[in-house]
Formats: sequence, structure tokens, C-alpha cells
Amino acid sequence: MVVLKFGGTSVQDGTSIAQALDIVAGSLSGGLLLVASAMAGITNNLVSLVKALQNGEEPLARDLLQSIAKRHFIVLEAVARGANLDAGRKQLDLHLSDMEALVKGSLLLKDCSPRVQDALLGAGELLSTTILWAAALERGWETQLFDARAFIKTDENFGEAAVLWPETFHAVQGKLTCPRRSVSIIQGFIGSTLAGVSTVLGRGGSDYSAALFGAALGASEIQIWTDVDGIMTTDPRKVSDARSIPFITYAEAAELAFFGAKVVHPATIQPAVERRIPVLVKNTKNPSHAGTKISMEAPGSGLRAIAGRAGVTVVTVSSSRMLNAYGFLRRIFDIFDRQRLSVDLVATSEVSVSITVEEKRDLRPLVRELEELGTVKVEEDCAIVCLVGQDVWKDNSRISRVFQAIPEVPVRLISLGSSDINLSFVVSSSDLDRSVSAIHRVFFDPKEN
Ligand code: ADP
Ligand code: ASP
Ligand code: MG
Repeated sequence: MVVLKFGGTSVQDGTSIAQALDIVAGSLSGGLLLVASAMAGITNNLVSLVKALQNGEEPLARDLLQSIAKRHFIVLEAVARGANLDAGRKQLDLHLSDMEALVKGSLLLKDCSPRVQDALLGAGELLSTTILWAAALERGWETQLFDARAFIKTDENFGEAAVLWPETFHAVQGKLTCPRRSVSIIQGFIGSTLAGVSTVLGRGGSDYSAALFGAALGASEIQIWTDVDGIMTTDPRKVSDARSIPFITYAEAAELAFFGAKVVHPATIQPAVERRIPVLVKNTKNPSHAGTKISMEAPGSGLRAIAGRAGVTVVTVSSSRMLNAYGFLRRIFDIFDRQRLSVDLVATSEVSVSITVEEKRDLRPLVRELEELGTVKVEEDCAIVCLVGQDVWKDNSRISRVFQAIPEVPVRLISLGSSDINLSFVVSSSDLDRSVSAIHRVFFDPKEN
């Protein structure tokens, strides 16, 4: 059996849903699981709804809820008729009345707790899969609609819950069935705690869900259907000359995803890697294009792709006490550990350490603790440029071409040589896009090569 995951743009309207189901039809005979995201823009609407509730903005919250409901009914009407339309409406109504109750409750209490937030954020997937279910029934297919919250088991880290793999694996076994010649449909992005409280896996998490289901079911392939021709040499929205990459290794794809290539969620790769399940990334609007195959080995070496991630902060700790002292780095990392902050890049000298972290949180508690070890400098609005490819840094001429491409961009920190497949460096956020374009031009523009 195969897992087919369709992203937000692949289920955003009647035409896209028809295209998605045409693709699904090709895998019907072997059994399949269709994993779907919320319709494009809906999770963002739900984020706005949560913000409105946090600010007690009742009219805005009600408007958002109404427009979300309206959009789903319109799309449902485009894909189903008669009894299937009625069944779809009934199911949409159930989910919408749950959302209504959550909205009403938080307005009454003037409180939108993390639990309420996750229940609302995950509603988009429940709504989109209801429409897909009705559309599949309309095609006359044997169809089952599952609730991912019964299978994906997580901890209680609301907003970005961590998956409890043994519990998830156990829940899927024998209960999530994907018979031949039928369509099983399930939501990406959502799960629940062991006590059954709804959680979400973090933005873009539907890819991760697809990989988890694929791993638990022993799928022969996981297909990620999106709006571009696979993984490209860089983000095609930023650089129009980006080209599709036919083959890439799991390790390279994971680095790219981690450092900003939104096309696949970073955690996707892990469950697939462990079971050596190939992952295909393809374009719903251009299904005949081969897209990208992610697998253990991939032909070719050298620079494969460039990713960029904004929203990075560089924290530097300097102290003369570091001179010839051991245990200093451990103490610094202990502090990051206690603050539950994950470290991305590190550069050290004899008297100072620079560390990059994602700019999501208030770093003042971290800084206060670090100040006990030395002077602390915090540089916000930074970005990481990440070049990925087998042995990417082993050729000096390649490295010099990278930095010659951006002679006027100040480079703050370089990480080279710790991994065979990654060369990363930090620039100011305002220099990110032009750095990526300039390097891309040097390596991938046919006129320059
Ligand atoms: P989906 O809703 O299908 O999950 P996403 O919007 O999450 O789709 O991811 C697809 C988008 O990822 C593309 O439209 C593209 O702009 C962006 N992207 C960023 N980096 C890359 C890359 N290296 N290759 C392809 N797409 C990329
Ligand atoms: N709908 C969720 C999001 O927009 C999950 C996903 O699309 O992967 O983040
Ligand atoms: Mg995505």
C-alpha cells in the first residue's frame, strides 16, 4: 500500500480536489491512505481566530468562524451531490458546532487555553477530510474516513506536540485499515494525548503525519503531493530559476527542510528513513513530472540545493575564564538545555562561543543565566544560508565561489566541516534573499556554468 499526502493547495477548491482524486485513482488497486492538510489558508485563518479569542475580539472571531464555514460548504457543494452532499453537510456541521462551542467557551471565560488553541488549530484538517470523503463517495468508491486523533499519540506540548511512537504504532496496528480497491482518508497535523486531548504537530506537520502512518503501516512508498515539481534547487517563490532535483538523499532533504525549505517538514524524513521507505515529492497540478525521489542513496555529488531561514538569533558568550579551562562548553550547553532551547549552529574561539537559536521565544531568562559565565551579546534579525550536497565543502574552489558570489554581504558565522553534506553561514536577515539568489546564480544558472 502507499500513503498519499495532499497539502493545502492540493485540496483548496473543487478543481484541486478533483485533480487529487484523479491521482488517488491510480493507486486504488493496491490499497492506500490519503492524508490531507487543511485547505490552503485555513490554518492561518484559525491562527487569526485564536488571536482574536486571546484579545477578546468577539465580532472578529465570529466573522472568521463564519467565513471558514462558508468556504467549506461552497467547496463541498462543488464536489458532492444528493445523499453524499447531505452526508458531507452533516459531518461538517458536527465539526463546526464543536468549533462554535470552543469559541463560545473561550469568549465566556475570556481565556483561550493551549488545549482550546490546539483543538481549534486542528479543525481545518477535520473539515477538509470531510469534503474529500464526500468527494470520494461521489466517485462511487469504497471509502473510510478515520480520525487521526485516535492514532497519532503525543505528549502535552500543545502547539508542537512530540509524537509517542510506541503508542502511535500500537494504535495504528490492525485498526487503521487500508483495503485494496478502497480509499482510506485521514487528517494530517493532528493527534491527541494519551488522555485523548487534541494536539497539533506544529505548522506544516501533515508531511510528518504521512510519514508516521507510512512507517506504522509498512507502506511501500510515501507520496507528498504539493504545488511545485518536487524539491527544487532553492525556493521557487524567491528565485524563479530554481530547478527541480530528481534525486536527493534523506540526509540532504532533512538538512534542507530543517534550514528552511518548506516543501517538506523536517521531521518527515525520520520515520521513513528508519524503515527505508522512499518518499516522493510531486506536483498535484503537474502529475506527469517525475518530481523528487528522496531515498537512502542518490546519484551525484556537489551542491544539490540552497535553503535560507530567517528568524535566527546569535547569542555570544565571552569570558577570559574560558582560556585553558575545561567544562566551559558543557556549562553553556547545560543552560540551553535547562531553557529547552535547541541550538542550531555553533562557532567557538578560545574565549568566546557563538550559538544560533530560533527566534521564537523571549531569550531574557537564557541571557540572565549565561551572564553568570561571562559577557553575553544577543544579535537578532539574523538568517542562516544553508548549502546542501554530498561533500559540499570538500572542494576549496567551491567554497571560494560561494563567498565570491556575495562579496558585499557581511558573514557573521560559518559552520563548515561538521557534516559532509552541509555548509551553513549566518548573515543579517536583510541580506538573506540576495545571498541565496546570488549563490544560486553562480551554481545553477546555465549561463554562468
Ligand atoms: P503544502 O501545502 O503542499 O504542504 P507547502 O507550502 O508547505 O506546501 O510547501 C510547498 C512550498 O515550499 C512551495 O510552494 C515553495 O514555495 C516552498 N519551498 C521552499 N523551498 C523549496 C524548495 N527547495 N523546493 C521546493 N519548494 C520549496
Ligand atoms: N494545516 C497545517 C498547516 O498549515 C499543517 C500542514 O498543512 O501541513 O500548518
Ligand atoms: Mg507543507
